[in-house]
Amino acid sequence: MNLTNSNFQDIPWNDITSFGQKTMLGNPLFSVSWILGRFCNYNCSYCWPYARSNKVDHYDLDLYKKTIDEIKKQARQNGFIDFHFSFSGGEPTAYKDFLNLIEYYSSDIEPKYQSFHMTSNCSPGIKWWKRLVSKLSLLDRASVTASFHSEFANETEFSEKLLFLIENQVYVTVNQVMVPDRFYEYYDRCERFHKLGIPVTLKPQSNDTATEIVQGYTNEMIDIMQIGFPQHDKTNAVFQIELKDSNGNRYDFDQAERFNAFGFNKFKGWKCNSGYQSIIIRGNEVKRSYSCHDNSLGNLETGFKLFDNPRICITNSCVSSADSKVPKCKII
Ligand code: SF4
Repeated sequence: MNLTNSNFQDIPWNDITSFGQKTMLGNPLFSVSWILGRFCNYNCSYCWPYARSNKVDHYDLDLYKKTIDEIKKQARQNGFIDFHFSFSGGEPTAYKDFLNLIEYYSSDIEPKYQSFHMTSNCSPGIKWWKRLVSKLSLLDRASVTASFHSEFANETEFSEKLLFLIENQVYVTVNQVMVPDRFYEYYDRCERFHKLGIPVTLKPQSNDTATEIVQGYTNEMIDIMQIGFPQHDKTNAVFQIELKDSNGNRYDFDQAERFNAFGFNKFKGWKCNSGYQSIIIRGNEVKRSYSCHDNSLGNLETGFKLFDNPRICITNSCVSSADSKVPKCKII
């Protein structure tokens, strides 16, 4: 096993007092993480029932367009004038109007900065990806987190699509959930992706309620997830996270996806910008974040209201990277 040494293990995790996604720290950027529905065209044996459905459960394009407009209106009232929208599912590319939705989002020329992200099984054919790339041309940044599912996908075709995206200035990461029983099989495949120049992030599997990571990892496996395939030496990848300790020292970190491998996911009592500088949408529901125990902020059909200030975290663990990347600071 050829692990590249990384200084991530030198970060004083117990002494971190503030952190967040760099694009959201000190920038007027509002972030939306949007689960369009649970429908997925794959049916992997290991998928949690809460994560997928056979039933198409998307809403009409008009409701989604109105939602984008309403989010932007309320975020602007809070002083956030730039936007990052991240789509997932289920499988977001299975939404029949997905390309029209992205076209609508990207055609707004008012923001100084707009970016797009999607988590996908990358099942559509290459023609679909060419059409997507053409819709992204007005945006400042586009990225795709790709999940490889061996029961349904072909490794060569999957790699070819990702290399096409990379050639077209889309930031790509293969996000591999490292199921303990199949850890080394997954590691070997990730190494093949990595050798092709495709960035890879390894992450621990969460339990069926997505509140903790599962048992069964050896110390070597934890080590591999903490420092395997660090993304600072890759041409199309960047350190996305900045952390500060109590002495004001700063640390760069590649992706919030890796926080759980360090057990860095307990922020109860911290001040958190979720609900104020970010929201999540799950189907019809609008919430502060996926992990949060706070009441929902409303829904797409009858309306929702963002917080007008950062609020204290009341939740024991913050395991989703969409939640943990949102700026937070410890109240000392
Ligand atoms: S659980 Fe919610 S409020 Fe708590 S830190 Fe995570 S995103 Fe913020």
